[in-house]
Amino acid sequence: MNFVFEPNPSPVPASERGARLADPGFGRVFTDHMATLRWSEDKGWHEGRIHARAPLTMDPASSVLHYAQEIFEGLKAYRLDNGSTALFRPEANAARFQSSARRLAMPELPAELFVESIEALVRTDRDWIPEIEGGSLYLRPFLIASEVFLGVKPAAEYLYMVLASSAGSYWKGGARAISLWVSHDYTRAAPGGTGAAKCGGNYATSLIAQQDAIRRGHDQVVFLDATERRWIEELGGMNIFFVFDDGGIQTPPLTGTILPGITRDSILRLARDQGLTVREELYSIDDWRADAESGRLIESFACGTAAVVTPIGKVAGPDYDFTIGSGATGQTTARFLESLTAIQRGRAPDPHDWLKPVA
Ligand SMILES: *Cc1c(COP(=O)(O)O)cnc(C)c1O
Repeated sequence: MNFVFEPNPSPVPASERGARLADPGFGRVFTDHMATLRWSEDKGWHEGRIHARAPLTMDPASSVLHYAQEIFEGLKAYRLDNGSTALFRPEANAARFQSSARRLAMPELPAELFVESIEALVRTDRDWIPEIEGGSLYLRPFLIASEVFLGVKPAAEYLYMVLASSAGSYWKGGARAISLWVSHDYTRAAPGGTGAAKCGGNYATSLIAQQDAIRRGHDQVVFLDATERRWIEELGGMNIFFVFDDGGIQTPPLTGTILPGITRDSILRLARDQGLTVREELYSIDDWRADAESGRLIESFACGTAAVVTPIGKVAGPDYDFTIGSGATGQTTARFLESLTAIQRGRAPDPHDWLKPVA
């Protein structure tokens, strides 16, 4: 056991916890504990603890606050119908956390420590998984540069933490198709940049584009590639799929500017299992529009851990707008949402061993 357990001396009483879990929403209700682990050049990874969730005391010269050397992950623990608890593909998150660390010149957390930190926290706080339909415990592992130094260089000290947050169903009463704004002003990631790393900096620079989309009356922004401003890449925090009238599905390839989503990868596997034609190929905004108008393209959806699968109903840019299919959730989209959530809840066979039980 690499994480010493120090129980929270004053956990939230069960009745109060019950009240908070009735309608937790997303990202606001936190559990009683958190995991922490430190890294330094001389000691390596050390001081692993599961302890009471509490504010941090940080020196204002901690380098993360100045140069944004930070990476994170997001994954969920589910309560299965048989009462047990399981994580969905945590090893995939561990591997991505390592590749994000490499890109940000940070130390790589061994996969076993990553998974152990999450399992230990879920075991401690599993009573915080809401009993409501679609409820889960969202885990947020992250790593920050904690060295107190204003010089520009990779830090010599880091702090790894895991938070657990109770989450309700993203889709009360079924998935609602969203409307997208295509940003022709801002890009998310450039070749050679950090688009494939899960770092806070990518989000910081995407917020203005998302704000622009909201101001114009849309739900989410979709980004084009930074070089030609032509190829569809992804949303601020979700990958994108296209469904064609021949039954084939397509998603942009992982060229280094797109975040390699684990939901994206899971959908590709399910689609290949089902014998669908799967293409990982570039798709341009002009083709998306023409194909939606001709009927060759029948559905589009976004995907990620938080919402799993999100149907796209409408798309607009500076001088165009178009509707996808009927503008509502399509059949293939609904089928992927259903088959993925069935595996995550232990209601369907799990041929790829994606579920990892938490003892
Ligand atoms: C996390 C993330 C995704 C989705 O990844 P999942 O592993 O499926 O949750 C997609 N795009 C961006 C930019 C992300 O940060």
